[in-house]
Amino acid sequence: MKKLQQAFSSENFRQQAHSLVDLLADYLESAQNQDLQHVIPYKEPDESFSFWQTDYEKGQENVEDFFKTVIEQSTHLHHPQYMGHQVTPPLPITAIASMLSGMLNNGMAVYEMGLVSNPLERILSELLAKKIGFDKNSGGLLTSGGTLANLTALLTARAAKTDVWEEGNTDKLAVMVSEEAHYCIDRAARIMGMGNAGIIKVPTNDRLQIRTDLLEKYYQEATNNGFKVICVVGSACSTSSGSYDNLEEIGKFAQKHQLWFHVDGAHGGAVVFSEKYKYKVKGIENADSVVIDWHKMLMTPALTTALIFKRDEDSFKTFQQKAQYLWANQYSKDWFNSGKRTFECTKLMMSLKVYSILKAHGEEIFTENVDYLHGLAEKFVALIKARPNFELAVEPESNIVCFRIILPNQESNVINSAIRKQLLQEGKFYIVQTTLRENLYLRVSLMNPLTSEKHLVALLDEIERISKQIAQQ
Ligand SMILES: *Cc1c(COP(=O)(O)O)cnc(C)c1O
Repeated sequence: MKKLQQAFSSENFRQQAHSLVDLLADYLESAQNQDLQHVIPYKEPDESFSFWQTDYEKGQENVEDFFKTVIEQSTHLHHPQYMGHQVTPPLPITAIASMLSGMLNNGMAVYEMGLVSNPLERILSELLAKKIGFDKNSGGLLTSGGTLANLTALLTARAAKTDVWEEGNTDKLAVMVSEEAHYCIDRAARIMGMGNAGIIKVPTNDRLQIRTDLLEKYYQEATNNGFKVICVVGSACSTSSGSYDNLEEIGKFAQKHQLWFHVDGAHGGAVVFSEKYKYKVKGIENADSVVIDWHKMLMTPALTTALIFKRDEDSFKTFQQKAQYLWANQYSKDWFNSGKRTFECTKLMMSLKVYSILKAHGEEIFTENVDYLHGLAEKFVALIKARPNFELAVEPESNIVCFRIILPNQESNVINSAIRKQLLQEGKFYIVQTTLRENLYLRVSLMNPLTSEKHLVALLDEIERISKQIAQQ
């Protein structure tokens, strides 16, 4: 017992937590003012594994040293030259709230275990529903990531359109989605047993948006081949290129055929907070369900994802099951028992993190972030266009920009891939790459409000420098 008593000592906690906060505050400062030279201290996976293997073999040690090492060896999202994947540098207040939820650990599934987080989750769902333009019949929930939220939405669609939950599979079911959609839609459909043929990938136009003029044709083909299409998914925006599908047209098509209309707004759904940019999701209010990641443009740590329903009651259809030890009545639609309508039974108190942002900074901070990041992307586009040897993949519609450098007598997929590799190894910038229509592009997601135009100029200069170096080899 001695070990346990010591481990639970409030005095130990006070000391360790204070020292971690100091460590993180120093870290935040050095990341923001670029005292930290590297955005990413890249190592090959095996090298990193053997480092940690050695560390593990040292056994019990001062935990503060461990925290320091973790910080040093991680990718630094608060560094202004972090422009890689679509993960936000979290607002500091949310890191504090994470500690709060970690200690309280009220596991959500039933009301008694989430006295605070269940009501907060409802308030946040209603806030987003209102921003989307849903009426008072709407509602929603929080779940562990966009991937799980999209699967949940497709399960709700299936429950609304079929009896599979009770009867098992009888029909060949299908969903329609753009070929540029996030892979998790494809994965969800496969998990649900739809297979290759049940995932109807509709081609995109030259702006990489779903071709709504082809929806009818693909639908008729599927129907003629014996498929029952249950759902059509709009991407807002697509992950690779940041293009927004035409939600108005998809909504009309869904209504015509009585299909479930789902909007995957994991990344770009955040524009509902912006007067200036919300036109990009015009028609979102006609969706049956919408996914928005709080952990992308909305500055909350992963994972915190909203799944919002036009009709709250639909969300209770997804997982109708008996669990006598959790709730008395299987069919009652209690908003306060989180586990009734989420995959998770025990769940993080995610709502605390978002709610702490509202309390500390107010809703306007979301608007400010969305507007700033989109505006920054517009500036970046101008910088790229001003350099004749660079080209854009598409005219960007969000804070995701795909571009490449073109050099005479050089294969551009090869050269751009080599550039990205060298950037990773140097570690001064973090950007990624993507392939669009068989061409490889450098891909920047502007997620960090501490990034400014001068960092973007520095990035383009660095790419030019590396490209010259490579060309000479
Ligand atoms: C990021 C993203 C996802 C996946 O969400 P996770 O939270 O990473 O699971 C799904 N769809 C789109 C459009 C995305 O941008």
